[in-house]
Amino acid sequence: MEDNRKNSGMILPLLPLRGISVFPYMVLHFDVGRDKSINALEEAMVKDQLIFLVSQKDPSVDHPGPDDFYSVGTITRIKQLLKLPGDAIRVMVEGVARGKIVDLTKDDEFFEVRIEELKEEEKKETDSETEALMRSVFGFFEEYIKLTNRATVETLVTVSNIEEPGRFADVVASNLRLNIAKKQSILEAFDTRKRLERLHSILARELDILRIEKKINLRVKRQIDKVQKEYYLKEQMKAIQKELGEGDGISGEVEEYRKKIKKAGLPEEVKEKALNETERLLKVAPGSAEMGVIRGYLDWILDLPWNTSTEDNLELKHAREILEEDHYGLKKVKERILEYLAIRQLARDMKGPILCLVGPPGVGKTSIGRSIARAMNRNFVRMSLGGVRDEAEIRGHRRTYVGAIPGRIIYSMKQAGSNNPVFLLDEIDKMSNDFRGDPASAMLEVLDAEQNFAFRDHYLEVPFDLSRVMFITTANTTGTIPRALLDRMEVIHISGYTEEEKLNIGIRYLLPKQLKEHGLTPGNISISHDTIRDVINYYTREAGVRNLERRIADICRKVAKQVVEDNKTRVRITRGNLNKYLGIRKYRYEKVKGKHEVGIVNGLAWTPAGGDTLSIEVTVMQGEGKLVLTGQMGDVMKESARAGMSYVRSRTAELGIDPQFHEKMDIHIHIPEGAIPKDGPSAGISMTTAVISAVSGRRVRKDVAMTGEITLRGRVLPVGGIKEKVLAARRAGISKVLLPAENEKDLEEIPGNVKRKMEFVLVEHMDEVLEHALVKDGENEDNKS
Ligand code: ADP
Repeated sequence: MEDNRKNSGMILPLLPLRGISVFPYMVLHFDVGRDKSINALEEAMVKDQLIFLVSQKDPSVDHPGPDDFYSVGTITRIKQLLKLPGDAIRVMVEGVARGKIVDLTKDDEFFEVRIEELKEEEKKETDSETEALMRSVFGFFEEYIKLTNRATVETLVTVSNIEEPGRFADVVASNLRLNIAKKQSILEAFDTRKRLERLHSILARELDILRIEKKINLRVKRQIDKVQKEYYLKEQMKAIQKELGEGDGISGEVEEYRKKIKKAGLPEEVKEKALNETERLLKVAPGSAEMGVIRGYLDWILDLPWNTSTEDNLELKHAREILEEDHYGLKKVKERILEYLAIRQLARDMKGPILCLVGPPGVGKTSIGRSIARAMNRNFVRMSLGGVRDEAEIRGHRRTYVGAIPGRIIYSMKQAGSNNPVFLLDEIDKMSNDFRGDPASAMLEVLDAEQNFAFRDHYLEVPFDLSRVMFITTANTTGTIPRALLDRMEVIHISGYTEEEKLNIGIRYLLPKQLKEHGLTPGNISISHDTIRDVINYYTREAGVRNLERRIADICRKVAKQVVEDNKTRVRITRGNLNKYLGIRKYRYEKVKGKHEVGIVNGLAWTPAGGDTLSIEVTVMQGEGKLVLTGQMGDVMKESARAGMSYVRSRTAELGIDPQFHEKMDIHIHIPEGAIPKDGPSAGISMTTAVISAVSGRRVRKDVAMTGEITLRGRVLPVGGIKEKVLAARRAGISKVLLPAENEKDLEEIPGNVKRKMEFVLVEHMDEVLEHALVKDGENEDNKS
């Protein structure tokens, strides 16, 4: 062996390695199974235990030829052989030196090669650059070990003690996990400096990758940890719940909710939200308030008609029949509704305007809404906005509030049970706003076709589609409806009913309805038209028929009692015994009796509840010309009173009044029922008449009522609400009404039977008013009463 090495043409058996490389100074063991390799081992053992190890370029090749292994390898000394079961042998070797194949000398039972050995020169001193490289490599190696845990601290100590750069590089390289090609490249670097450099760059790159790898691992681990933690906690919770005997109930309940939610066909967003909430049920403490909140929420979601709708019936004939069946008169309203339905029939998706029914109470606004629903075959809901001042009433409270529930809109939708009901918003003129937010703006969103497909309720948190709802609103007056809302609506006015109309409604609609409600048949009761008229005149005073209906209900109740208790089959109600059913008369309704008086005039007023008579009183007393106005008059009304005064002063001569009257006396104009605010210019001629009467001492006719604005010159200007005022005058038993001439066209609206019974005088000037209103000299009131 010595000889061989001296020749530097050493001949050694060769063993190709699969997937490993060996460096000088490295001790390792590997198993050998291939015949050729075993033969090579045997050859080495009989000689000097030296064997040349090279790496196979491709580890999967079973029978490598000379081209299949690298030409640079390691001369190693066999330290130990161990026969393994089967034919395999475990070999332990120690790397001695690098070698390069010069020649293949044998290729039969085994490979044999001639090798050029590479001797490391023992450098006495390493130059500083090499030193620096070594340190840097060492630093890298330290970090490498930390990151990979591939070597022990001892290895690190061993390495740190190696001074020869070549050996240092080999030991480091042998401790790295690199692919064969990389290791080979280090092995092939005969020059130590080059070897170090290669190692340095390989290590640097390796570290980069390791650092990234570590980061990724950390992230993955964190995720896994979180999942595991949640899983663990959930399991724990389940165990606790089971221990407490509650768990099964809850998971059963959760399962139930899940099923219901999946079946409910909710919009995607809603479904997701509901499922999330369901999962939360599992997490919160059983029996906690939170659990109740979640349950409540889920029940709400499941109860809402997200996708339940009714089929519209837009057939006009059918609708007409229903409207007629439910309501007397109201021709204009019914026509308008039929038009509306016709348009919908032509353009189903057209967003029609929102109808707003305006009129005094009890004229059937609500019941018309109900009727529309019936005609269209839609469900009906009604919600009153009267007194709503908090936006949250409409939009609900957030769930963080204790006891929060959805707003009234969503509440009503649940009641409706379908997503396309007729939705009546009652008393939209009675909404108010204060510090709690503006409900009108929430209503705007509800009514706006551009927005209401995604109405947001604070409680629900998910949008609800209101676009298929048919909204109808009602109001007593348009005056107090917020402008923006009013602009979105089409107003249909319904005025009060005349006595004749009330009679018809009473007989044809209210009585049959009440009989049915009280379980009576038409045969059980006998009541004449005149008796009903008495009910209207002596027991009610209203523009609509609400109280009439109540009185009829009172009668029916008593009749029902008689039928049951006294075994009567038919009860007769007459004008004579009406007081047995309704008590004493509440209102007087006679031709105005009493006296024509000085200083008292019947004015006429329009109020949201219909028309009304307004008694205007003037008193004069010694004084210095003060004008006192009392009785809750608005500014416009006060100005109107002053205009009247100026007119009187400018006409003292014609009126036969002391020209200086205004300096000697105070004049007090009062309108009783002071709690009711009054405003507008329409009491102008009434106040002026009252002043003239008071100052001149001439009496005013009791049976005359009037309305009209006055100018400084005494001209009479037109005013509104004529029909309501006339009907009110009629109810009060007035027989003559003075109206501004320009209001003549409004007389058309007044039903014929009223017109026939009353006298209308169209006036243009104050002179005509006085002509008709003041009692003529020498006239006796009694024969006129
Ligand atoms: P509003 O909503 O205008 O205050 P309602 O709709 O409550 O009035 O009407 C009160 C009652 O009078 C209801 O029972 C209604 O059916 C009845 N009613 C009103 N107008 C008519 C009418 N034209 N024909 C038949 N019934 C009527």
